[in-house]
Amino acid sequence: MLGELAAEGVACVMCGGALLLSPIAQVVVGVAASTGHPVYACRSNCAELVADDE
Ligand SMILES: [Zn+2]
Repeated sequence: MLGELAAEGVACVMCGGALLLSPIAQVVVGVAASTGHPVYACRSNCAELVADDE
């Protein structure tokens, strides 16, 4: 279900926004099964959505 960029850990898994420019605003939310990379979400709101989804 992860987008390609999200699975590479360079984009938010929820909103798909690029995270490279804002490293302090992201949080690891898991590991992509397809790539083994950690995946991230925006710390402010998307991470909470991920938590709710699990
Ligand atoms: Zn996001």
